[in-house]
Amino acid sequence: MATPWREFKKTKKYPKLKKDISVDVAIIGGGMAGVLNAYQLNKAGLSVALIEKNELGSYATMDTTAFITEVIDSDLSEVAEIFSPRDAKTVWNSGSEAIDEFERIITEEGIECEFTRCPNFIFTNTPKEFKKLSEEYDWYKKFKIASELHEDKSNLNFPNSGYLEVPNQAKFHPTKFLFALAERAEGKGVQIFENTEALDIAGDGPVSIETREGIIRAENVLIATYKPFTNQKTHLKKAMYRSYVFEVHVPKDLFKEGLYEDTENPYHYFRIDAQDSHDRMIIGGEDHKDIFGDSLVDKSFKALEEYLSKIMGGKKYKIMKKWNGPILEPSDGLPLIGRIKPHYYVATGFSGNGMTYSMISSLLIRDLIKDNKSAWKNTYDPKRALLHPKRLATKAGDYIEEFWNGALKNLLS
Ligand SMILES: Cc1cc2nc3c(=O)[nH]c(=O)nc-3n(C[C@H](O)[C@H](O)[C@H](O)COP(=O)(O)OP(=O)(O)OC[C@H]3O[C@@H](n4cnc5c(N)ncnc54)[C@H](O)[C@@H]3O)c2cc1C
Repeated sequence: MATPWREFKKTKKYPKLKKDISVDVAIIGGGMAGVLNAYQLNKAGLSVALIEKNELGSYATMDTTAFITEVIDSDLSEVAEIFSPRDAKTVWNSGSEAIDEFERIITEEGIECEFTRCPNFIFTNTPKEFKKLSEEYDWYKKFKIASELHEDKSNLNFPNSGYLEVPNQAKFHPTKFLFALAERAEGKGVQIFENTEALDIAGDGPVSIETREGIIRAENVLIATYKPFTNQKTHLKKAMYRSYVFEVHVPKDLFKEGLYEDTENPYHYFRIDAQDSHDRMIIGGEDHKDIFGDSLVDKSFKALEEYLSKIMGGKKYKIMKKWNGPILEPSDGLPLIGRIKPHYYVATGFSGNGMTYSMISSLLIRDLIKDNKSAWKNTYDPKRALLHPKRLATKAGDYIEEFWNGALKNLLS
């Protein structure tokens, strides 16, 4: 499937691992999470080897829409209720640090990747949704988060029932960033191996990672394979979804440059990138649980096109590309990032926020490996109990609504 990020070709090839090596940290998986973690751990003074079974950035990171935002898929009110207000604040603060850290690395390493600060417009499609958004806005005020609730709908230039504007979010070109960062990390001493699949992990520290032609012995291992490739006690804590995306040419200056997300369940999202003769919209949604094979693909794209046509309101547009990709939803709404047992770390369950969470994981895991301390440790703890009645009850309603309005609606259409 064509995505704009797939068209940007990686020029550097990394070798296959063909001998045994020893390092402080072995990272399995060369997507956004793996590469960012490799960069940060090396910067913290540790020796690092990263292995990728295909080529860097060849799975979920290639399918992203690359919003970098503190506004995560779970509402702050929901995190406050399921976890605690303190956890909700931690989620927001860690997201803010993640965006700043992207900007800092991009500036410090001189990476050209179209990084742009922009607002995120959270818009509603019905007065009922706007009322719910107003209640969510109370949490923004409580946490003193810069944001503005707009009842005036006209500013967005497409039909809506009011919106919340969150300034100073960001977007970028994910593979330009990823490939350049991997080169910088390798230049600083990270050993990177492509076409090198981890087949097994054994040992209680040091840990041995078996590949076809070599073994990596490491004090610690980070599994950053999107979905942990061995059962590391996380299997009940997440479920795979599929999300659908179009790249669209839209008239210049029709919409403000920025990120847009609606509050439907499942939700829709788009970004507007200013270009020369037209603007680019990358729009996605119609997410459903990934249990239907390919039977829902055409219907989901059709539903997305109907949604796009509503947003465009009769104005001209042209769909240039379409693709769909995996979304790994954590069962309680927060990702699983941290130590799963001594010497073993995971970073998974990023839902639609894997750019922000990849960066959060790189800061959190660095701190855990160095000092076993981080203010974010408990919030994202992958060992947290899942079968907490409050968590299950709140999320169950959410998932039923998502199934009803997403997969079922499109299946019956
Ligand atoms: C349509 C869509 C839109 C999205 N939009 C956004 C967005 O706007 N903002 C946002 O923040 N997030 C978004 N996401 C989510 C985000 O793209 C992902 O969460 C993120 O890219 C995950 O990065 P990762 O490094 O964890 O996984 P991946 O990029 O999947 O990397 C994991 C790597 O591990 C490798 N691997 C697997 N098994 C092994 C093994 N045994 N040995 C060695 N290597 C192995 C794989 O080949 C892969 O390259 C979106 C996702 C989709 C699908």
